[in-house]
Amino acid sequence: MSVPAARAARLAAALAEADLDGLLVTGRLDVRWLTGFTGTNGACLVAGDRRLFLTDFRYLEQAADQVGDGFEIVRAGRDLLGELAAAAPSGRIGFDDTEVTVRAHRRLAEKAGATVELVAVGPLVAGLREVKDASEIERIAAAAELATTAFEEAVVGPGLAGRTERAVAFDLEHAMRRAGAEDVAFPSIVAAGAHGALPHAVPRDVEIAPGELVTVDWGARLDGYCSDCTRTWGTGAVPDVLAETHALVLRAQIAALDAVRPGPTGRELDAVARDIIDAAGHGEHFGHGLGHGVGLEVHEGPRLAKVAEGALVAGNVVTVEPGVYLPGELGVRIEDLAVVADDGPHVLTGFTKALTEV
Ligand code: ZN
Ligand code: ZN
Repeated sequence: MSVPAARAARLAAALAEADLDGLLVTGRLDVRWLTGFTGTNGACLVAGDRRLFLTDFRYLEQAADQVGDGFEIVRAGRDLLGELAAAAPSGRIGFDDTEVTVRAHRRLAEKAGATVELVAVGPLVAGLREVKDASEIERIAAAAELATTAFEEAVVGPGLAGRTERAVAFDLEHAMRRAGAEDVAFPSIVAAGAHGALPHAVPRDVEIAPGELVTVDWGARLDGYCSDCTRTWGTGAVPDVLAETHALVLRAQIAALDAVRPGPTGRELDAVARDIIDAAGHGEHFGHGLGHGVGLEVHEGPRLAKVAEGALVAGNVVTVEPGVYLPGELGVRIEDLAVVADDGPHVLTGFTKALTEV
């Protein structure tokens, strides 16, 4: 079965399970996943054998090129959503209420026929996107490989001490673009010393000193798919307390990564790392979840966190990224990206995470 046909079949099964007669697909990445269309203005109706792809005249040529055979391409006017709703058949028609604005919903309701019942179904397609097929895993792996090469070029080669956080972040992003990335997956984090205590630190115009820990969190976007990786390394030998914290986070990270497989819930995996960090007295210093899914979005399902009850399945691609943050003192986070598989995690960011001098 072709990739578009396989995705259409999975969606059809999900619609049957949710007792829906059809679905309006409006999220840009959901539309991309389902049809192959990479433009910014498109929407789909999927109802039984009827599969419509609507876009405006600017994208017709691109749509003819990209949109899979199963879809009929429809030229819409200015009111894409209205026309989408008007095309819906009678019955229960789902829409993603995490995606449709209140205003857009009003428009859908106005234009849908009297026999159409609009049903909020949440991120149904995004849920399907959590399980990647081989072509997606290949793309994520390629993005991760590109990001690793850029890290070697912009961080490992020149070293960190004496450069500003901002200069390192810029060079890293530049290296990713030069290597072919279409974009960064997210703004790179380069955080030295106490600044590393902010999990989402913004790089500063501050020179990185010798004998510090530096956290670098970066990712590339390639062919639509993201990568995500974090290393915390040292600029030369670091004080014992920093090395000990690094060793603790590394132990928690390795234990949780080893536990990644189909079956455990996100909460159970989170607990593997959290228990180790708790036992060392740093429970309150690990304030975020263990990880998240990565795909067309850098943060998507499934979540690995205290409140994540969904079980991992083969084909999920997730990060494992425990951290310890001591405000005003230090921060350590170590993150790998892995494919969930029956024979154990396939790690896509497999270069050393030991405390390395750089
Ligand atoms: Zn990250
Ligand atoms: Zn991450």
